[in-house]
Amino acid sequence: MKWHTEEISFSTTKKHQLVDITSEVEEKIFPSEVENGVCIISVPHATASLIVNENEKGVRKDILDRILALAPDDISYQHDRIDNNSRAHVISSIIGTDKTFIIENGELVKGTWQNIFFVELDGPRSVRRVVIKIFGE
Ligand code: ZN
Repeated sequence: MKWHTEEISFSTTKKHQLVDITSEVEEKIFPSEVENGVCIISVPHATASLIVNENEKGVRKDILDRILALAPDDISYQHDRIDNNSRAHVISSIIGTDKTFIIENGELVKGTWQNIFFVELDGPRSVRRVVIKIFGE
């Protein structure tokens, strides 16, 4: 059994943003030499999330709009008294911060229209991280 921990990091440029990290994640699989196993992708942030879906302009906008509707902007939040980003915390907790993929024949098993997106909910941020655990044989 092989175990690898990898990490990618990047900046975000907007308050709310989807960042396609599919190729950066996939680039970590081949060097791991894991042919059959599991890839866990985790976002170690309380104001960001991870989703999987199609990278098409309309889909991206629809998803981001609906995500933001999960926690309305025009209501009061307790945490805003100290940090003014409670909405981001709430949405992150609803959507979640990790995804799991099967690795088969050295590649992530995912659909043609499935891309992996980091969801920025409280940007812009100079450093955002994604941790990737790859294990298998
Ligand atoms: Zn906060």
